[in-house]
Amino acid sequence: MVLADLGRKLNAALSSLNRAPVVDDKVLDILLKEVCAALLESDVNVKLVASLRQKVKAKVKASLESGADKGKDVNRKNIVQKAIFDELVQLVDPGVEPYKPKKGQSNVIMAVGLQGNGKTTTCTKLAVYYQRRGFKSCIVCADTFRAGAFDQTRQSATKAKVAYFGSYTETDPVSIAAQGVSKFKKERFDVIIVDTSGRHKQESELFEEMVQIGEAVKPNMTVMILDASIGQAAEAQSRAFKDSADFGAIIVTKMDGHAKGGGAISAVAVTKTPIIFLGVGEHLHDLEKFSPQPFISKLLGLGDVQGLMEHMQDIATQNPDKQKEMAKKLEEGKLSIRDWREQIQNVMNMGPISKIASMIPGLPQELLQGSDEEGSQRMKRMIYITDSMTASELDSDGSPFMETARGSGTSVREVEELLCQYRMMANMAKQAGGKNGWLQAAQKMQ
Ligand code: GDP
Repeated sequence: MVLADLGRKLNAALSSLNRAPVVDDKVLDILLKEVCAALLESDVNVKLVASLRQKVKAKVKASLESGADKGKDVNRKNIVQKAIFDELVQLVDPGVEPYKPKKGQSNVIMAVGLQGNGKTTTCTKLAVYYQRRGFKSCIVCADTFRAGAFDQTRQSATKAKVAYFGSYTETDPVSIAAQGVSKFKKERFDVIIVDTSGRHKQESELFEEMVQIGEAVKPNMTVMILDASIGQAAEAQSRAFKDSADFGAIIVTKMDGHAKGGGAISAVAVTKTPIIFLGVGEHLHDLEKFSPQPFISKLLGLGDVQGLMEHMQDIATQNPDKQKEMAKKLEEGKLSIRDWREQIQNVMNMGPISKIASMIPGLPQELLQGSDEEGSQRMKRMIYITDSMTASELDSDGSPFMETARGSGTSVREVEELLCQYRMMANMAKQAGGKNGWLQAAQKMQ
């Protein structure tokens, strides 16, 4: 999971609140101190952190003065937790909706950014992302500055089975971009991604070129690709780009392994530009959709039911009827072990387990620990357990199953874990919307 360290620290702070017998100013101060320290360590700007602290305090004070806690500590805890949740969302929310590509028309997306930020890699990831969702996607390589850029596009696009356009001989990036976009528009591609040149630093030449390509291909959305490792310096970089080539959205790359990512995300939010994706690894599928609330929800270990549903819908393209039936069961909370097993199998086909698992509310941290391979092994083991079940047990809610599973050669602990996972999934409908216990409770009170 991205920013796992920050997530752990925030979780630890919130759990200490849960353990506190009474919630008074002292407890709130300690909690806020821990939350703020965690944010600062993730390179969030000190002014933003100070403002978060103030806003949480003001919100809690106002709620308590209005008597929303009804004199109970448990309500007070919910109020504090919700105030922190909401302010964390605010911290990463630019309050602007990004452009959404539409099917049946050509959507031109132009990618800009400094060299090495992951632009070319991200262009292929984006093409794959949209292709998997039924958009006919392609890439135009208009990077004539970097030697080998077209080769890189050719190789990754071929691997991803995405159409591409570029030239070994043409040196004018504007001309290549125009040719490529016009060709793919004629061929009725839905998503046309134009990869532009980068430079080592912000130079007038780079900005000039971006403007010219933009004028030639008239993008529906210009996306800036930004490296998470620069932390809060992201604000200055995105402002510099924005002044020259106005862009509509940002993708923050290399979120895997960069503790400073929190700084980058919050700095971008200050510039009022929506982040649409996070790059979370070097592979083609290492691209996560970004939305402020689900992001904070996942960070705090509350899952992302909405994201999970979207993921499920993606695989539904392969078998829409079956998935519709499953969605209905999920909504009604009528999920048998058999359905659950099918979902787990689907999940395993969807990509790295850690990404999917972090969307499931309340999933034990153990499942997310270790490598993706270890996570897959754990999931497989659960499937093996269900293999030893009878048809009626599979269609049940798991209660009659404990005894039979004891004979499956797996430990009782694993069986219990399986049932716990299943029940969590079966409860998902009740938590639909990505909200969890205390959040819902606090929302009801307001
Ligand atoms: P460009 O110069 O901006 O086009 O950058 P590239 O796409 O060539 O990427 C530069 C390096 O960053 C390559 O080694 C990529 O594999 C790597 N990279 C890109 N995105 C990510 C990411 O999200 N995570 C990690 N870990 N590496 C990335």
